[in-house]
Amino acid sequence: MAKERYQIKSECPECGCGLINNMTPDEFREKYGDTKDKVPVNCSDCGKEHDGCVTEHNTAAQKTTES
Ligand SMILES: [Zn+2]
Repeated sequence: MAKERYQIKSECPECGCGLINNMTPDEFREKYGDTKDKVPVNCSDCGKEHDGCVTEHNTAAQKTTES
């Protein structure tokens, strides 16, 4: 079963710290609605709001089959 995940990556322009946020499609939709490209995130360090890039991850595709 394909498990999709949204990964939000951003770099804070204020303090330069990187942020990576993983969300399930459900969590993502609840928080950001239909936005799929750029979403506003709050820096965990300085609290400033800035844009984050959203990428879709399909965890099932990366799984190696073992027998
Ligand atoms: Zn910051």
